[in-house]
Amino acid sequence: MDATHAPCPLHPERPAEGTCSRCGTFLCERCRKWQVGRMLCSRCHTVALGEKPSQRATLALIFATVGFIGFVPGLVGLVLGYQELAAIRRGTSPGSGEGWALLARNVGWFHLTVLLIIGLGWMARS
Ligand SMILES: [Zn+2]
Ligand SMILES: [Zn+2]
Repeated sequence: MDATHAPCPLHPERPAEGTCSRCGTFLCERCRKWQVGRMLCSRCHTVALGEKPSQRATLALIFATVGFIGFVPGLVGLVLGYQELAAIRRGTSPGSGEGWALLARNVGWFHLTVLLIIGLGWMARS
């Protein structure tokens, strides 16, 4: 679909810069909103924010939190966080899980770093 010459439905004086990845409506520069690399109209953006995060986003956050006790579950959270972010980008998971998935990914990296430091210290001693 060539969106470059179509006018924005809300701002007819502005050319559309793309289409909403959800409903396909033309969007000008002022109308488009971004969510995890997806271009959305303001209506779909609001709907996407109201969606419940997916089960995987929830699990990723739980594992990342449990990782503070034993670190290893934090690595599960890291993997799940990455999977969930990829799914949100593909549009197969609700975008509302983005915050949780990002958090799980970042906390997961923290656990991985701590594990590496512990591992290195252990190797240095033996
Ligand atoms: Zn839309
Ligand atoms: Zn517009």
